[in-house]
Amino acid sequence: MQTQTDRYARQVLLPQIGPQGQERMRAASVAVVGCGALGTVIADGLARAGVGSLRLIDRDVVELHNLQRQVLFDEEDVAASLPKAVAAARKLARINSDVRVEPVVADLSPRNAERLLDGVDLVVDGTDNFEARYLINDVCVKHRRPWVHGAVVGTYGVTTTILPGRTPCYRCILLRKPAPGTTPTCDTAGVLGAAVNVIASLEVVQAIKVLTDQVDPTPPLIFVDVWANQWEMVPIRKGDGRCPACDEGRLDFLTARETGRVVELCGEGAFQITPSGDGRIPLVQLADRLRRVGEVFQNEYLLRFRTAPYEVTVFADGRALVKGAADEAEAKGVYAKYVGT
Ligand SMILES: [Zn+2]
Repeated sequence: MQTQTDRYARQVLLPQIGPQGQERMRAASVAVVGCGALGTVIADGLARAGVGSLRLIDRDVVELHNLQRQVLFDEEDVAASLPKAVAAARKLARINSDVRVEPVVADLSPRNAERLLDGVDLVVDGTDNFEARYLINDVCVKHRRPWVHGAVVGTYGVTTTILPGRTPCYRCILLRKPAPGTTPTCDTAGVLGAAVNVIASLEVVQAIKVLTDQVDPTPPLIFVDVWANQWEMVPIRKGDGRCPACDEGRLDFLTARETGRVVELCGEGAFQITPSGDGRIPLVQLADRLRRVGEVFQNEYLLRFRTAPYEVTVFADGRALVKGAADEAEAKGVYAKYVGT
């Protein structure tokens, strides 16, 4: 058995890391929000680099069309319908058994965000939507926790590091959430796997800098278009106006009242239904009931029910993904009919 010194030998040789930096990373804990294209590359990079503790938060299940770019998954994960957080954690355990990996199958929401992002030194953004980023920002501003932002679509992406209290926050940079339908998404514009890997790798570098206390005094916004060979560093300055989040302490996304909600998921052709309340769903009983009306698949994390034209995936916390519905209202109707309200 080789020692951990052997494992990190090439990294420890770097003057930027050294034995001290390596030890700091071993003692650190990081939450990665989203375990898709960005998140799998980020989690892989942090685990191989020897970050001691990783919490992987994701709401989704591995599907065939993910394999083009989501590097921790394979065809067996698709066949087993594993939640992404669980499949990623299993893969990472085989890559570096010294890293403590905690998979969390959940949708980051105002109700759970503070709890899920608690107790970590850093949050890294592997999400695919503005809502989640504003929520991460609110939690991190409130608790003065650093976070690394990253986003990719098509062949380009951006990343920056946010240190609440020291740098402008995400809301300083993007005061208003773009209206739905006004920005390209992976669904409408596609995404090049290699572009994701570049942004995710830059996020890993920024994470290592934060964890070893070597973060740039004024982290820029880095823009990369891998196809157009375009790299830009954009300095970030606070605008003239006051920021509702970091200047006035108004954490609108964290304090949003959450009732049951329906959101369309980017790239999935699915609607996510999150019921109000905290009730857990007895999956075994639900499976028995649904077998009378359609085809049911079940594993320890979820139940999948098919009845044409719908496919409904229900998690134990009551959250469901509905495919085959034309709009939110239809998706809600399907949930109410088969799962219950
Ligand atoms: Zn701000």
